[in-house]
Amino acid sequence: MIDSKTSEETGVGNYFISNYPQYSFWKPDLVNHVHDVLNSSCPSDPLPLGIYFHIPFCRKRCHFCYFRVYTDKKASEIKAYIDSGIKEIEKYGSTPYLKGRKPKFIYFGGGTPSYLSVSQLTDLTERMKAVFPWDEAEEVAFECEPGTLTEKKLDAIRKLGVTRLSLGVENFDDHILEINGRAHRSMEIKRAYDYARNIGFPQINIDLIAGMIDETEENWKDCVKQAIALEPECVTIYQMEIPYNTTIYKEMQESGKLTAPVADWPTKRRWVSEAFDMFVEAGYTVTSAYTVVKDPEKVKFVYRDALWGGADMLGTGVASFGHIGGVHVQNEHDIGTYLKRVTDNEFPIYRAYPINDDETIIREFILQLKLGKVDLSYFKNKFDVDLSSKFSSTLNQLRDRNFLTFDETTIEMTRDGLLQVDWLLHEFFLNEHQNARYA
Ligand code: SF4
Repeated sequence: MIDSKTSEETGVGNYFISNYPQYSFWKPDLVNHVHDVLNSSCPSDPLPLGIYFHIPFCRKRCHFCYFRVYTDKKASEIKAYIDSGIKEIEKYGSTPYLKGRKPKFIYFGGGTPSYLSVSQLTDLTERMKAVFPWDEAEEVAFECEPGTLTEKKLDAIRKLGVTRLSLGVENFDDHILEINGRAHRSMEIKRAYDYARNIGFPQINIDLIAGMIDETEENWKDCVKQAIALEPECVTIYQMEIPYNTTIYKEMQESGKLTAPVADWPTKRRWVSEAFDMFVEAGYTVTSAYTVVKDPEKVKFVYRDALWGGADMLGTGVASFGHIGGVHVQNEHDIGTYLKRVTDNEFPIYRAYPINDDETIIREFILQLKLGKVDLSYFKNKFDVDLSSKFSSTLNQLRDRNFLTFDETTIEMTRDGLLQVDWLLHEFFLNEHQNARYA
């Protein structure tokens, strides 16, 4: 099973593992577990808290996008959405479990948060802060599409308290951006990046995708060179995947194709590996299967590390995911249903899953494996479990195949293992979660 997919062409399906157990196990009839947590009193030493707010609007739908995004909403509809989001946050803020808590991190994701106007963003954030003050937040992260950014908007975003600005660059070539359905072009990347740098965001991240439609060896190297020349604090590189529910998949279906019109997995892995080498040569450090950072001592990603360490995260807005008191939560994914439930003064939760002790250990372990290195003493101290014994057979098997090394203190992925870590994580799933649908 371990490398059954490694020589394959890119077919349809999810590669990236963002949670465990898979979303297909989360159910509407388990939502009562979320209510039990919210009605319980907050522990005296609570978990770190984060708030995610989802903004589902985009200028245009990218051909590889599998999110529920809306490209046709008027200002009045966006206002109604923000009002609902605030009402949802206020409802959470009055529960015994969350009342009075201050978030350690905030994340604006989408969709395209930077699609909102300055006045919409100011309205949203001021009202959020009135419920959950941000004065103790270590990080406020904000995703942007370069073509939506003006100097005035970036200035306002910085003044809201955003510390980590993430630019969805994906590629620097106009033909590749266009053929993959991106709304922005290379001129807009340069302009937005220069504005953001001048304004003084503490951390700028650039997202790239290896293996978009029409990507070539030369262009990929050029993309990496251009990213290095910008000197961002952090670069995130994804390998192109084609989930169901994408325009590319629909076109594959119509033409009866099983293979997506993008590079195969070995090529994408090689491209990411070559990019890692180029970044390392430029002084960056590889800090996960997807990230390189300029200075690992200074450049942290609080949202990711807190979440992968079991923090509470309140997921708000349509279709958003959260994790509260050991229960996975997902909101309604249709905007009409979401708005109606908030108007009816309900929590707009669609499905949930309370994770048991074993699943909690596996979840944190597999997510932390994506960082390339796992400190086994963390699991010993937190869960009183010795992972090298618990998973000895799988670990030995993966070591024999050169995907990782381990001793009694540390598990470390090799470069080859790290580049395909999401395939390998399935090996640690419980039997009942093997071969299940992901979404
Ligand atoms: S910008 Fe992001 S969320 Fe919006 S359509 Fe493109 S991939 Fe999807």
